[in-house]
Amino acid sequence: TLYNYGSINIDHVYRVPHLVKPGETLSSTDYQQVLGGKGANQSVAAARAGGQVAHWGQLNAGDQWALDVLDEAGVDTQGVARVDTPSGHALIQVDDAGENSIVLFGGANQSIDHDFIATRLAKVERDDWVLLQNECSHTAGMIEAAHARGLKVAFNPAPMTRDVTEMALDTLSILFVNRGEGAMLAGLDDNADPDTVLSTLAQRYPDTEIILTLGADGVYHQKGKQSLFAPAEQVDARDTTAAGDTFIGYFMAARLEGKDVSTCLKHATRAAAYSVQRAGAHTSIPRACDLEQP
Ligand code: ADP
Repeated sequence: TLYNYGSINIDHVYRVPHLVKPGETLSSTDYQQVLGGKGANQSVAAARAGGQVAHWGQLNAGDQWALDVLDEAGVDTQGVARVDTPSGHALIQVDDAGENSIVLFGGANQSIDHDFIATRLAKVERDDWVLLQNECSHTAGMIEAAHARGLKVAFNPAPMTRDVTEMALDTLSILFVNRGEGAMLAGLDDNADPDTVLSTLAQRYPDTEIILTLGADGVYHQKGKQSLFAPAEQVDARDTTAAGDTFIGYFMAARLEGKDVSTCLKHATRAAAYSVQRAGAHTSIPRACDLEQP
């Protein structure tokens, strides 16, 4: 089983003629409420890929509909706590040019305590995986506790924060980073050469599989001195939201099935290419049957 310790966000998406200016009151022309959060998206992706995935997270008890979306995707939600705190949420304005601005509130994702982690880890078997991102409280504590319990840990430090460098990343089995996250983690500037980013991280964490995704430029996989590259599929990208989440969920599901690295990369790359051709976050994540060749 893949246990994903991750955020559950409610995205409030407002369509506006232009992004609201200071002091301005603006009517929106459309409003949608959708499930979001990197954690929830990665759980949905892993489940739609056919993986056995259980989500660990926290949301407001009144937002049962969000759990229903996860359930329907095939995610086990028994490890999600329902609390009084408001759910994590994002206020998103999207203007006619496709430009957006976002206000994020961590809410219930950020009030998860140590007890939550201890009780869940106590029930897990040795062969299981723990996946996590950087949108919940106690990320560093979860990495340490899961490793101490002998579990394999995969980490996607998104959004990237300064304290990530102090986490026990050398204990990870897998580290997923995109271009910006990789550069920042390696202590290089934003447009650093991917080869330098990769070799810096591989040297620092020699026992960890480093997976560096480069959008339309494909993805590198490196462990120690061994490196692999998989090109991205050439498609018309419409909306790259959740491309990384789709990639990670699919990669982990293939890994759980015992597939080799290049097969995992292939599945993940194909699923991510499907998602960028469609608008939305979890709504753009394919099911395995959507990816079968005609
Ligand atoms: P993130 O969404 O976390 O920033 P990336 O932009 O690196 O991550 O994208 C993750 C993966 O999604 C890439 O490795 C690639 O396989 C796929 N992908 C992203 N953008 C495109 C694109 N424009 N065309 C095809 N595949 C893409």
